[in-house]
Amino acid sequence: MLDAPVSNISGIGKATEKELQKLGITTVRDLIFYLPYRFDDFTKLYAIKDLKARMTATIRGTVTHLQNRRSWRTHKIVTEAFVDDESGSIKVIWFNQPYIVKNIKVGDTLSLSGRTSDNFYDLTLVSPMYEKIISGTEPLHTGRLVPLYSLTHQLHQKQLRSLIKKALHDFRFLLSEYLPSQILDQEKLLALPQALEAIHFPATIEEAQKAKRRFSFEELFILQLCNLVSRKAVARLPAYAISFHKKETSEFISSLPYALTKSQKEAAWEIIQDFKKNFPMNRLLEGDVGSGKTVVGALAVLNAVRSGYQCVLMAPTEILAVQHFETFCTFYENIGVRIALLTSSAYKKWNKESGIRNQGTKKEKKSLLQEIQNGDIDLVVGTHALIQPNIIFKKLALAIIDEQHRFGVAQRKALCEKNDNAVMPHLLSMTATPIPRSLALTVYGDLDISLIHGAPRGRKKIITKIVPQHYRQWVYDFIKKEIAHGRQVFIVCPLIDPSDTLGVRSVGEESKRLQESDLASVRLGVLHGKMKQKEKEHVMSAMAAGDIDVLVTTSVVEVGVDIPRATVMLIEGAERFGLAQLHQFRGRVGRCAYQSYCFLLPTEATHENKQRLKAIVSSNDGFALAEKDLELRGEGDVFGERQSGMPLVTLASLADVELIKKTRSFAEQYVVRLDEYPELKNRVDAFQRQAHFE
Ligand code: ADP
Ligand code: MG
Repeated sequence: MLDAPVSNISGIGKATEKELQKLGITTVRDLIFYLPYRFDDFTKLYAIKDLKARMTATIRGTVTHLQNRRSWRTHKIVTEAFVDDESGSIKVIWFNQPYIVKNIKVGDTLSLSGRTSDNFYDLTLVSPMYEKIISGTEPLHTGRLVPLYSLTHQLHQKQLRSLIKKALHDFRFLLSEYLPSQILDQEKLLALPQALEAIHFPATIEEAQKAKRRFSFEELFILQLCNLVSRKAVARLPAYAISFHKKETSEFISSLPYALTKSQKEAAWEIIQDFKKNFPMNRLLEGDVGSGKTVVGALAVLNAVRSGYQCVLMAPTEILAVQHFETFCTFYENIGVRIALLTSSAYKKWNKESGIRNQGTKKEKKSLLQEIQNGDIDLVVGTHALIQPNIIFKKLALAIIDEQHRFGVAQRKALCEKNDNAVMPHLLSMTATPIPRSLALTVYGDLDISLIHGAPRGRKKIITKIVPQHYRQWVYDFIKKEIAHGRQVFIVCPLIDPSDTLGVRSVGEESKRLQESDLASVRLGVLHGKMKQKEKEHVMSAMAAGDIDVLVTTSVVEVGVDIPRATVMLIEGAERFGLAQLHQFRGRVGRCAYQSYCFLLPTEATHENKQRLKAIVSSNDGFALAEKDLELRGEGDVFGERQSGMPLVTLASLADVELIKKTRSFAEQYVVRLDEYPELKNRVDAFQRQAHFE
């Protein structure tokens, strides 16, 4: 019954139903679980004589005068009223709500909540919430903690609030608890009906907080259950078991021009352990830019190939695919791994005997596809286009996905179909985006994670400086000197096109300005997200080839190509980016033996901005910066901190590591006996459908 359409609630007609739909509310349940984002605190009741300017207040009184008039300045309709209580009288105005004179009349006793004007001599209550006082009922819109909901244009707070009140009242008897009672007891959580009552219409803020805790707990608990259910589902899929080839592995490692770091070895070992199992790996390899993830991938490929299987390596762009192809050719220079590059513009093949062979014609491409299908190619490198159905493998055992956190369900299915026996390849996603621990435990809780800490030894620390605007010229002179030494430069701007936002630089404007004045003599390139993929690739290849000195770009440069000679990263409007993102930008330079620099130019060098940016100057740890970001920007205001207008986040705090751990351990206990809790199982299934989990 809770899943009945909202139109079952009296008072919801076709038009309202349509508006509610826009908010994702289609069933009675949806409506009841549509939680407020904050409350207006209208609990304080005042006598009119005690009112002062600029205060949030509730009054009760009788309407003595009521009239619509047109404002002489704006020609808008103003509704004007006077309200008296025992102590005095006050003027009340509303704008553009002429119908108010139909809802109330002179002589009505009202409860009104709102703010007083800032003009003491003409003290006015401006656009207050109002409702008639009906004896025996509690006020809903005034004189209490009043919930505020996200709305559409056509829907009013009052209307939605009344509907939720009604739905809760009418359907309360159907609300049955789905959290196990042991958990409720142990964690002292409010039971469902009370919690819903308290989160919509709390008597006190403490009550609302208590309710919020229950829903945060529930949200994380169910999310964790989904993760574990999804893991169990994957564990039932067939996969090729890949054995560990000890001799070849150590020969490969000793052929490298450097020694592997401890965490590279550990990550490789975790992958090799996963390979031995007879269900598919689903692992995320996380490591800062330049931490050396590729070689770990190469070790995985080597073991898969030596076990007689095929692998794919997918990169987000063609240039990166080409770069990976070349890297892998070098890795396997002395051993027989047959590699192909397959992108929309190039097909190449490499093996130990014949080296790299370019292939161009359609016929050659067709024969390459045939070789892949026959199992004569061990590793295929390309973009995500490799998922297309015309590329068929004989025995695909491992898919490596570079620079992507999560591989979608559809993509995963498509990969499965590449093997005609529907065996699921092992998945290894590599990402340089540091995911804070709490997020890794929740949002990515269905993945196993390997971490590579720090950068390989021998790399120079990038010098990072916050530069005030009046040092701009100095920066350009510095850049010109670097270019004279054959180095390259990135300039990141927050916007593509000029906007009204004063002082924020855009790629379009800035590249033009630089070319005409400060950097007139250098070869300038432009890159941004609105360009076609082909154009972007063209610019990046030119940059990689050294045909561009300065690349003016937006954040698209974040995921990218190795430009070994790039030594300067200049970030305009630096305060507009997250710390983790700034760290990613910085990682575009410093990939060579030369000293590299990162200059942060805030548009507004406020104390707060500078404090935040200082974190990036002093830290080179992407994970620490991501944690800090979550802490600073992820959560918004702290619940209950402000006097009125306390925010109420629907989503549990993803920075709340304690709660995350706790719900995780409960989920582990309960996932094995989910069948005993059919109502909980229903919630998990519904959540999974919603989140398009697997
Ligand atoms: P990312 O993790 O960003 O993909 P790469 O795998 O491209 O990083 O590695 C960055 C650079 O570091 C490469 O030039 C690689 O040869 C080098 N590298 C990788 N591992 C080591 C190591 N253990 N010692 C020294 N250099 C290394
Ligand atoms: Mg990489």
